[in-house]
Amino acid sequence: EGMSEVTVVGLGPMGSAMAVAFLAAGHEVAVWNRTASKADALVDKGARRAGSAADGDLLVVSQTDYPAMYDSFGEARLDGKVVVNLSSGTPEELRAAAGWVAGRGGTLVTGGVMVPPPAIGQPGAYTFYSGPEDVLDRHAATLKALGQVTYVGADQGLAMTYYQAQLLMFWSSLTSFMHALALMRRSGVPARDFLPFAGELFTSMGGDGPMGYAKILAEEAEAGVYPGELNSLHMQAVGLGHAVDALAEAGLETTVPQALRRLFERADAEGRGDEGLGTVIESIMKP
Ligand code: NDP
Repeated sequence: EGMSEVTVVGLGPMGSAMAVAFLAAGHEVAVWNRTASKADALVDKGARRAGSAADGDLLVVSQTDYPAMYDSFGEARLDGKVVVNLSSGTPEELRAAAGWVAGRGGTLVTGGVMVPPPAIGQPGAYTFYSGPEDVLDRHAATLKALGQVTYVGADQGLAMTYYQAQLLMFWSSLTSFMHALALMRRSGVPARDFLPFAGELFTSMGGDGPMGYAKILAEEAEAGVYPGELNSLHMQAVGLGHAVDALAEAGLETTVPQALRRLFERADAEGRGDEGLGTVIESIMKP
């Protein structure tokens, strides 16, 4: 049974890894990149050099941003073609891109890849997809070569909303971890001595136990009720202030923890200091 061809547009670290994964899964692969020489290694591995970015029926795009797609397709018609764009952008940019592709006769499926290039196609890899589900379903068997296909909804912006929600957590929690490591280093504690405790916190926050705060806050946010009898936001705002002061005392950067402190203090000043930590979301909802 012949497998359908897929064209990979954009051969940076991600696009190149995708082309390799499609080849490894036995697909015919065409490749296109603005800087044509980046296709050479893939052509050596068996890919076809596409004549243009729109050369193919299934066009998987992975570039720096959405304007790159507009530059790459230019004035080309996309009649009957499916464009799966896995580049980063804002949800509004993705919705606009869906209209742009539709205006040229094609259909856009958007996606956000949740793993770095070496993990593409490996166990545990997954991608959030949004757009018309029937179109995604037709190509899911092909896209599975990149990792699990996780459909999140018809609104083309949603793939990036999920992707960015994950990345906000990823960047901010790991930056807090780096503040913790810096504080430890200033105190003469090697990173490896602190690591087990950091690992325990990351794991327990996503679990069901007493420190399972992801679940606790999600339930509170849905109910709009934030019990704080045992650990009030006011108490935590004061405690966070001490942590910021401890960083300053140690001569460390405090911009991000200061911003957290301001957010907590605003929720407190708004009169919700007796509620729990979850009440901070009410302040986030009203900038
Ligand atoms: P880049 O974000 O640097 O993308 C490089 C590619 O974009 C190259 O093919 C480049 O072409 C192309 N490009 C940029 N601007 C234009 C343009 N105006 N016209 C045509 N082509 C253009 O590298 P990555 O491969 O790392 O990332 C691709 C996407 O995947 C990004 O949106 C990124 O956010 C996302 N992503 C990346 C991850 C990672 O770990 N790397 C993980 C998850 C998602 P040229 O070679 O000619 O410069």
